[in-house]
Amino acid sequence: MPKTQTVVITGAGGFIGGHLAARFLNAGCRVVCADIKPLDEWYQVHRHAQNHAGPARGDCRDFKVCRAVCAGADEVYQLAADMGGMGFIENNKALCMLSVLTNTHMLLAAQEAGVARFFYASSACVYNADKQKDPNITALREVDAYPALPEDGYGWEKLFSERMCRHFREDFGMNTRVARFHNVYGPFGTWEGGREKAPAAICRKVIAARVSGKHEIEIWGDGTQTRSFMFVDDCTQGIDRITHSDILEPINLGSSELVSINQLVDIAEEIAGVRLERKYKLDAPRGVAGRNSDNSKILGYLNWEPSTRLRDGMERTFRWIEGEFNDKYNARTAHLSSISTFTKGSHPIPGDGFNPDSKFMTTWKQGIPAGYGGKPGKPAKASKKPAKKVKAAPKAKAGKKPVRAKAGKRR
Ligand code: NAD
Repeated sequence: MPKTQTVVITGAGGFIGGHLAARFLNAGCRVVCADIKPLDEWYQVHRHAQNHAGPARGDCRDFKVCRAVCAGADEVYQLAADMGGMGFIENNKALCMLSVLTNTHMLLAAQEAGVARFFYASSACVYNADKQKDPNITALREVDAYPALPEDGYGWEKLFSERMCRHFREDFGMNTRVARFHNVYGPFGTWEGGREKAPAAICRKVIAARVSGKHEIEIWGDGTQTRSFMFVDDCTQGIDRITHSDILEPINLGSSELVSINQLVDIAEEIAGVRLERKYKLDAPRGVAGRNSDNSKILGYLNWEPSTRLRDGMERTFRWIEGEFNDKYNARTAHLSSISTFTKGSHPIPGDGFNPDSKFMTTWKQGIPAGYGGKPGKPAKASKKPAKKVKAAPKAKAGKKPVRAKAGKRR
């Protein structure tokens, strides 16, 4: 990529966007970052990037923001989305579908700016659920997205936006590229609060068990569900390669190293040097029974596929979460790490921050994640079922700065 390129990355305050910004800055690009979160909640803040942060300057549901962000751009990487692990997407379908506003407005603004390339981050959640009923599944090929039966809410929105990219390319001649990510993990991502995914949640639980001395772990489902997990460096390299390729159709971007959730716990335990008693929570959200990435297509096109071994990537992820955890909790407060900070601790289910009552929270109904401080919208209609009374959130450490705002993380 030539050094003079201006690249726009939306969702840059999030996990993958923060790593992608680092990659393009290192390549000598001019990088414009945008995220609805205030700057002090970004996982990585890059001083040499132009940063549009917070609801007024970084909310890409707003077309005016998209226009300002895309002005003068050569390439756009559309990663902004309201998303999280299974507990989040199964309980916030409307919120997930509202990302369609971001995708639509970013496509329109990028088209208006005349960008050379537009990358869209899709997901393996677009795949037909009927093809993922067996933990010993055949890996998913790109054609398995149709006939459409994706993950409700989040997956439908991703599939719709994929097609919007296709039609912007076919009808308007925009150079769109789409990758379907399969479970990405690594440092500088969500590790607690209700939006974290399995690798980070498991690392946190193992660390909490070791620190608190309570040697047990809660696992969602029966632990036999299988997945593949891609280390974030492979993901950013794949985004770069796919965007600058001639691959026109949506393509898998994932590891093909299949493991069960039980095996993932084995790895985390081995890194931590502990063995824990496993408690299976069978009624928790667990997603499809099995999912893996068939990489024939990407290998055929690029002669490349994500290759970081899960054990190596987990070691790096575990060490980073361990540092964050130790900054925030100690042996006396470790048990608090099981309480969702995202839902302010209301009616927590120990272990994951998954909270069935959280969908009644006012801020979520307004479509703005709690704490992001947007203008209050019209309150949604009251549920017929009265919302349960919620207890005040227990404080982890009085007077301590939010862990994500640490100066050490800034580049
Ligand atoms: P993330 O939640 O860490 O980052 C997404 C960022 O988007 C967040 O920082 C959030 O504040 C921001 N955002 C949300 N709404 C916004 C808005 N209206 N305007 C501007 N910013 C907004 O998630 P991630 O893991 O970095 O995911 C990045 C992309 O990759 C998303 O589109 C996601 O759906 C996709 N994806 C991720 C995975 C994974 O395993 N992490 C898997 C499949 C697909």
